[in-house]
Amino acid sequence: MQYTLNRAGRTPTEHDVVPLRPFTVYTERQLDRIEALQGLPDEQIFAMRVVAHVLPFRVNRYVIDELIDWSNIPDDPVFQLTFPQPGMLSPEDFQRMAQALGNNASREQIRDVATSIRAGLNPQPDGQRLLNIPRMDGENLEGMQHKYEHTVLFFPSQGQTCHSYCTFCFRWAQFIGSKELRFSSSETSKLFSYLRRHSEVTDLLVTGGDPMVMRTNHLKDYLQPLLTPELAHITSLRIGTKSLTFWPHRYVTDDDADELLRLFERLVKAGKHVALMAHINHWQELDTPMVREAVRRLRSAGVIIRSQAPVLAHINDDAGVWSRLWKTQVGLGIQPYYMFVERDTGARRYFQIPLLRAYEIYRDAIRQVSGLARTARGPSMSAAPGKVEVQGIAEVAGEKVFVLRFLQARNNEWTHRPFFARFDPEATWLDQLRPAFGEERFFFQDEHDRMS
Ligand SMILES: *Cc1c(COP(=O)(O)O)cnc(C)c1O
Ligand code: SF4
Repeated sequence: MQYTLNRAGRTPTEHDVVPLRPFTVYTERQLDRIEALQGLPDEQIFAMRVVAHVLPFRVNRYVIDELIDWSNIPDDPVFQLTFPQPGMLSPEDFQRMAQALGNNASREQIRDVATSIRAGLNPQPDGQRLLNIPRMDGENLEGMQHKYEHTVLFFPSQGQTCHSYCTFCFRWAQFIGSKELRFSSSETSKLFSYLRRHSEVTDLLVTGGDPMVMRTNHLKDYLQPLLTPELAHITSLRIGTKSLTFWPHRYVTDDDADELLRLFERLVKAGKHVALMAHINHWQELDTPMVREAVRRLRSAGVIIRSQAPVLAHINDDAGVWSRLWKTQVGLGIQPYYMFVERDTGARRYFQIPLLRAYEIYRDAIRQVSGLARTARGPSMSAAPGKVEVQGIAEVAGEKVFVLRFLQARNNEWTHRPFFARFDPEATWLDQLRPAFGEERFFFQDEHDRMS
């Protein structure tokens, strides 16, 4: 099949015939080679280099050429989503790295400065690694997490990178080479023995990085065993990915795209629910013919596409952006699933907004869409005890409070139990909230401490 969808500018109807483009990616070392940046002032490029020496940077040609509107720099949301911005580091950290680079410090000195700045950016939010690694036969199963009863997460080792890196990513520390921060596994046999022994698990969530950077024949090794009778209790397979919008060619023109869709189709025909959990931050990502073709092909293979993303300053902290995103998705047959709160790590200083603001954006966006788009839940914090949703603000017994609930909890008994925090217009994360009504601790805290 010949596709001519890959150079169509911003208008989905204008197909412009050029040869199929290979996947080309730029990292910090190739910043100079990105043509689109060449008109920018040297200072701005230097600032990008400073930040890219601390936080991971990787962007592919498709994102540069077809998702970013270069007439709207630096405000363009996809530019903010992929290119380093000076405000992502504190002024002190920025200065330290700028000085090291400006003084032509040695590679070792630059690396030491980077390591020390990174250590201050909470590279391990919520002790993910310690708390959620499952055990089997006295052994820790690396590359897996089993936090919520029904769902096991798996991080295949070949899937620990992405087609482009998101500047807000909470997994940023995995991408900068520090081995001990990377959880991944190539041990399919352990994964499947664990799943066979855990009949309470219904969902396998393959995640990364981005598992869709993997070739189809690698994915097969991970997915085909689900067709065996011993794994009949795994009824849903989810794949967490940003590829749908950062490299939709994965589903259309890559040389193993057809084979990939046939693999999905086989799983669907065998009765599995196959869901692509697409990370989509802005409707602009859904505006090219290539992504629309990818959606069409995935849906015709029987794949359900759901979308989730955090609400972020500089990118999508606007109810109009979310309502348009959700409406666009419903139009394409993508189900809105979660709105997240930006995690307390990495460049959070740049992206975070108060919980109050996140709640207002969610509420106002929901009011602008019909029930079909109201399947998105949130704003939700993926915190150590669970996914906590800000449901609203209320006045109870004369006290203004946040109404919260667990959408998922480390102890499933906590799920959907409402609880209350003192109203705080500045708070940006669960750990900054205090229980309402003069109580000392939230209902789950003692038990959570014991579990940790
Ligand atoms: C979000 C999440 C899941 C999936 O939760 P759902 O509410 O079923 O989407 C599973 N495990 C972990 C660790 C998670 O953070
Ligand atoms: S695609 Fe996902 S894992 Fe990769 S950088 Fe973006 S948010 Fe992080």
